Amino acid sequence: MANDVLRLHVLASGSAGNAAVIEDVRTGRCIAIDCGICKRDFLGRCAEAGVDPRAIEAVFVTHDHTDHTKGLGVTLRGLGKLGCTPPVYALDEVLLFSSELRRLAETTDQRRLSWDDPVSAAGMEVVAFPTSHDAAASCGFRVECSGKALGYLTDSGVVTPEAHDALRSVHTLALESNHDVDMLANGPYPFYLKQRVGSQTGHLSNDQACDELAKLLTEDGAGRLEAVVAMHVSRNNNTYRLPREGFERAAASAGHDVSVSVAFQDRLVSTG
Ligand SMILES: [Zn+2]
Ligand SMILES: [Zn+2]
Repeated sequence: MANDVLRLHVLASGSAGNAAVIEDVRTGRCIAIDCGICKRDFLGRCAEAGVDPRAIEAVFVTHDHTDHTKGLGVTLRGLGKLGCTPPVYALDEVLLFSSELRRLAETTDQRRLSWDDPVSAAGMEVVAFPTSHDAAASCGFRVECSGKALGYLTDSGVVTPEAHDALRSVHTLALESNHDVDMLANGPYPFYLKQRVGSQTGHLSNDQACDELAKLLTEDGAGRLEAVVAMHVSRNNNTYRLPREGFERAAASAGHDVSVSVAFQDRLVSTG
Protein backbone atom coordinates (compact mmCIF):
# COMPACT_ATOMS: atom_id res chain seq x y z
CA MET A 1 0.00 0.00 0.00
CA ALA A 2 1.31 3.47 -0.78
CA ASN A 3 1.29 6.60 1.30
CA ASP A 4 -1.29 8.58 -0.69
CA VAL A 5 -0.22 11.92 0.78
CA LEU A 6 3.53 12.02 1.38
CA ARG A 7 6.14 10.73 -1.03
CA LEU A 8 9.80 10.63 -0.10
CA HIS A 9 12.35 11.17 -2.85
CA VAL A 10 15.85 10.36 -1.64
CA LEU A 11 18.07 12.18 -4.13
CA ALA A 12 21.28 10.91 -2.51
CA SER A 13 22.14 9.12 0.70
CA GLY A 14 25.52 8.20 2.16
CA SER A 15 28.74 9.71 3.42
CA ALA A 16 29.50 11.36 0.06
CA GLY A 17 26.34 13.47 0.11
CA ASN A 18 22.73 13.54 1.26
CA ALA A 19 19.56 15.21 0.05
CA ALA A 20 15.88 14.31 0.13
CA VAL A 21 12.60 15.88 -0.93
CA ILE A 22 9.24 15.18 0.68
CA GLU A 23 6.31 15.84 -1.61
CA ASP A 24 2.62 16.16 -0.92
CA VAL A 25 1.50 14.18 -3.94
CA ARG A 26 -1.93 15.84 -3.95
CA THR A 27 -0.58 19.37 -4.32
CA GLY A 28 3.00 18.94 -5.54
CA ARG A 29 4.19 21.14 -2.64
CA CYS A 30 7.54 20.03 -1.20
CA ILE A 31 10.12 20.45 1.49
CA ALA A 32 13.75 19.36 1.27
CA ILE A 33 15.95 17.79 3.94
CA ASP A 34 19.71 18.47 3.75
CA CYS A 35 21.72 19.30 0.68
CA GLY A 36 25.14 17.72 0.48
CA ILE A 37 25.12 17.21 -3.30
CA CYS A 38 25.80 19.51 -6.23
CA LYS A 39 23.14 21.59 -7.93
CA ARG A 40 23.25 19.48 -11.10
CA ASP A 41 22.49 16.27 -9.19
CA PHE A 42 19.89 17.99 -7.01
CA LEU A 43 17.96 19.45 -9.95
CA GLY A 44 18.53 16.42 -12.20
CA ARG A 45 17.14 13.99 -9.64
CA CYS A 46 14.21 16.31 -8.85
CA ALA A 47 13.35 16.19 -12.57
CA GLU A 48 13.68 12.41 -12.57
CA ALA A 49 11.36 12.25 -9.54
CA GLY A 50 8.80 14.44 -11.28
CA VAL A 51 9.29 17.12 -8.64
CA ASP A 52 9.15 20.77 -9.66
CA PRO A 53 12.06 22.29 -7.71
CA ARG A 54 10.18 25.62 -7.61
CA ALA A 55 7.65 23.84 -5.38
CA ILE A 56 10.25 23.41 -2.59
CA GLU A 57 8.98 25.74 0.13
CA ALA A 58 11.56 25.09 2.87
CA VAL A 59 14.85 23.29 3.43
CA PHE A 60 15.53 21.57 6.76
CA VAL A 61 19.05 20.73 7.92
CA THR A 62 19.74 17.75 10.17
CA HIS A 63 23.28 18.76 11.22
CA ASP A 64 26.34 20.59 10.00
CA HIS A 65 28.48 17.75 8.61
CA THR A 66 29.52 18.63 5.08
CA ASP A 67 27.87 15.56 3.51
CA HIS A 68 24.56 17.22 4.53
CA THR A 69 25.33 20.89 3.86
CA LYS A 70 28.01 21.35 1.22
CA GLY A 71 25.55 21.74 -1.67
CA LEU A 72 23.27 24.24 0.05
CA GLY A 73 24.89 27.37 -1.39
CA VAL A 74 25.00 26.30 -5.04
CA THR A 75 21.61 24.62 -4.95
CA LEU A 76 19.88 27.57 -3.28
CA ARG A 77 21.45 29.88 -5.84
CA GLY A 78 20.18 27.58 -8.58
CA LEU A 79 16.69 27.58 -7.06
CA GLY A 80 16.90 31.37 -6.78
CA LYS A 81 17.46 31.61 -10.53
CA LEU A 82 14.22 29.64 -10.97
CA GLY A 83 12.47 32.21 -8.79
CA CYS A 84 12.35 30.02 -5.69
CA THR A 85 13.90 31.20 -2.43
CA PRO A 86 12.95 28.73 0.30
CA PRO A 87 13.92 29.50 3.90
CA VAL A 88 16.47 27.22 5.54
CA TYR A 89 15.51 25.83 8.94
CA ALA A 90 18.12 24.55 11.38
CA LEU A 91 18.62 24.41 15.12
CA ASP A 92 20.42 27.35 16.69
CA GLU A 93 23.75 25.57 17.16
CA VAL A 94 23.73 24.46 13.55
CA LEU A 95 23.08 28.00 12.34
CA LEU A 96 25.93 29.17 14.58
CA PHE A 97 28.53 26.50 13.87
CA SER A 98 27.95 25.45 10.27
CA SER A 99 30.54 27.21 8.15
CA GLU A 100 28.36 26.67 5.08
CA LEU A 101 25.32 28.29 6.73
CA ARG A 102 27.39 31.14 8.15
CA ARG A 103 28.79 31.79 4.69
CA LEU A 104 25.23 31.96 3.35
CA ALA A 105 23.86 34.07 6.21
CA GLU A 106 23.61 37.21 4.11
CA THR A 107 22.07 35.62 1.05
CA THR A 108 19.59 33.11 2.48
CA ASP A 109 16.57 33.34 4.73
CA GLN A 110 17.74 31.27 7.72
CA ARG A 111 15.25 30.43 10.44
CA ARG A 112 15.62 28.86 13.84
CA LEU A 113 14.17 25.48 14.62
CA SER A 114 13.53 24.54 18.21
CA TRP A 115 12.92 21.14 19.74
CA ASP A 116 9.28 20.11 19.85
CA ASP A 117 8.18 23.32 18.19
CA PRO A 118 6.62 22.32 14.87
CA VAL A 119 7.23 24.36 11.76
CA SER A 120 4.54 24.60 9.09
CA ALA A 121 5.83 24.46 5.54
CA ALA A 122 4.27 23.30 2.26
CA GLY A 123 1.16 22.31 4.20
CA MET A 124 3.22 19.95 6.38
CA GLU A 125 4.09 20.09 10.06
CA VAL A 126 7.74 19.37 10.72
CA VAL A 127 9.15 18.66 14.15
CA ALA A 128 12.79 18.01 15.05
CA PHE A 129 13.96 15.38 17.52
CA PRO A 130 17.50 14.83 18.85
CA THR A 131 19.77 12.21 17.35
CA SER A 132 23.02 10.95 18.91
CA HIS A 133 25.85 12.09 16.65
CA ASP A 134 29.18 13.86 16.84
CA ALA A 135 27.79 17.15 15.56
CA ALA A 136 26.22 20.08 17.41
CA ALA A 137 22.46 19.73 17.85
CA SER A 138 22.01 16.97 15.29
CA CYS A 139 18.41 16.02 14.65
CA GLY A 140 15.93 13.95 12.71
CA PHE A 141 12.43 14.94 11.62
CA ARG A 142 8.86 13.79 11.90
CA VAL A 143 6.70 15.23 9.15
CA GLU A 144 2.91 15.16 9.28
CA CYS A 145 0.36 16.06 6.66
CA SER A 146 -3.38 15.29 6.50
CA GLY A 147 -3.19 12.42 8.97
CA LYS A 148 -0.12 10.83 7.39
CA ALA A 149 3.31 10.84 9.02
CA LEU A 150 6.87 10.30 7.84
CA GLY A 151 9.89 9.70 10.09
CA TYR A 152 13.44 10.61 9.02
CA LEU A 153 16.41 9.39 11.06
CA THR A 154 19.98 9.30 9.83
CA ASP A 155 23.39 9.94 11.40
CA SER A 156 22.76 8.60 14.88
CA GLY A 157 24.92 6.20 16.90
CA VAL A 158 21.90 5.00 18.85
CA VAL A 159 18.16 5.55 18.53
CA THR A 160 17.46 8.18 21.18
CA PRO A 161 14.24 7.78 23.22
CA GLU A 162 12.98 10.99 21.59
CA ALA A 163 13.68 9.58 18.14
CA HIS A 164 11.89 6.36 18.99
CA ASP A 165 8.83 8.29 20.16
CA ALA A 166 8.87 10.46 17.06
CA LEU A 167 9.08 7.45 14.74
CA ARG A 168 6.12 5.68 16.29
CA SER A 169 3.06 5.19 14.13
CA VAL A 170 4.56 6.75 11.02
CA HIS A 171 3.40 5.59 7.60
CA THR A 172 6.76 6.06 5.88
CA LEU A 173 10.07 5.55 7.63
CA ALA A 174 13.53 6.62 6.46
CA LEU A 175 15.91 4.85 8.83
CA GLU A 176 19.69 4.79 8.81
CA SER A 177 21.23 1.35 8.28
CA ASN A 178 24.84 2.43 7.85
CA HIS A 179 27.11 -0.54 8.37
CA ASP A 180 27.47 -4.22 8.95
CA VAL A 181 29.32 -4.63 12.24
CA ASP A 182 31.67 -7.33 10.92
CA MET A 183 32.41 -5.52 7.69
CA LEU A 184 33.25 -2.38 9.67
CA ALA A 185 35.53 -4.33 12.05
CA ASN A 186 37.34 -6.09 9.20
CA GLY A 187 37.12 -3.30 6.65
CA PRO A 188 39.54 -0.69 5.31
CA TYR A 189 38.88 2.14 7.77
CA PRO A 190 41.65 3.20 10.18
CA PHE A 191 41.03 2.27 13.80
CA TYR A 192 39.90 5.74 14.93
CA LEU A 193 37.30 5.88 12.16
CA LYS A 194 36.00 2.40 12.98
CA GLN A 195 35.63 3.57 16.57
CA ARG A 196 33.85 6.72 15.49
CA VAL A 197 31.38 5.07 13.11
CA GLY A 198 30.51 2.32 15.59
CA SER A 199 30.28 4.62 18.63
CA GLN A 200 27.17 5.89 20.37
CA THR A 201 27.59 9.16 18.46
CA GLY A 202 28.38 7.58 15.09
CA HIS A 203 26.02 5.74 12.77
CA LEU A 204 23.36 3.05 13.17
CA SER A 205 24.43 -0.45 12.18
CA ASN A 206 22.19 -2.83 10.24
CA ASP A 207 21.49 -4.71 13.48
CA GLN A 208 20.51 -1.57 15.35
CA ALA A 209 18.26 -0.47 12.49
CA CYS A 210 16.57 -3.88 12.33
CA ASP A 211 16.04 -3.88 16.10
CA GLU A 212 14.44 -0.45 15.89
CA LEU A 213 12.21 -1.47 13.00
CA ALA A 214 11.17 -4.64 14.87
CA LYS A 215 10.39 -2.58 17.97
CA LEU A 216 8.34 -0.06 16.03
CA LEU A 217 6.44 -2.87 14.30
CA THR A 218 5.44 -4.54 17.55
CA GLU A 219 4.19 -1.38 19.20
CA ASP A 220 0.89 0.45 19.04
CA GLY A 221 0.19 2.02 15.71
CA ALA A 222 2.58 -0.35 13.93
CA GLY A 223 -0.19 -1.24 11.52
CA ARG A 224 0.29 2.12 9.91
CA LEU A 225 3.80 1.56 8.59
CA GLU A 226 3.60 1.15 4.82
CA ALA A 227 7.11 1.79 3.58
CA VAL A 228 10.60 1.78 5.02
CA VAL A 229 13.79 2.89 3.29
CA ALA A 230 17.31 2.13 4.51
CA MET A 231 19.40 5.31 4.61
CA HIS A 232 23.06 6.40 4.70
CA VAL A 233 24.24 2.93 3.67
CA SER A 234 28.04 2.77 3.70
CA ARG A 235 29.76 1.77 0.46
CA ASN A 236 32.79 0.57 2.40
CA ASN A 237 31.27 -1.25 5.33
CA ASN A 238 27.97 -2.54 3.99
CA THR A 239 26.24 -3.79 0.89
CA TYR A 240 22.93 -2.53 -0.47
CA ARG A 241 21.57 -6.08 -0.09
CA LEU A 242 22.12 -6.50 3.66
CA PRO A 243 19.87 -3.63 4.91
CA ARG A 244 17.12 -4.70 2.53
CA GLU A 245 17.26 -8.31 3.73
CA GLY A 246 17.40 -7.19 7.36
CA PHE A 247 14.35 -4.96 7.03
CA GLU A 248 12.45 -7.64 5.11
CA ARG A 249 13.24 -10.18 7.84
CA ALA A 250 12.15 -7.76 10.60
CA ALA A 251 8.88 -7.05 8.78
CA ALA A 252 8.24 -10.75 8.11
CA SER A 253 8.82 -11.78 11.71
CA ALA A 254 6.43 -9.06 12.86
CA GLY A 255 3.93 -10.44 10.31
CA HIS A 256 3.79 -7.05 8.67
CA ASP A 257 3.55 -6.27 4.97
CA VAL A 258 5.88 -3.31 4.45
CA SER A 259 7.44 -2.08 1.24
CA VAL A 260 11.23 -2.12 1.75
CA SER A 261 13.69 -0.08 -0.28
CA VAL A 262 17.28 1.07 0.01
CA ALA A 263 18.51 4.59 -0.72
CA PHE A 264 21.59 4.95 -2.90
CA GLN A 265 24.51 7.33 -3.00
CA ASP A 266 24.27 8.14 -6.66
CA ARG A 267 20.71 7.68 -7.77
CA LEU A 268 17.17 8.55 -6.95
CA VAL A 269 14.94 6.30 -4.85
CA SER A 270 11.32 7.32 -4.31
CA THR A 271 9.09 5.69 -1.75
CA GLY A 272 5.92 6.17 0.22
ZN1 LIG B 1 26.08 11.92 7.10
ZN1 LIG C 1 26.97 13.24 10.16
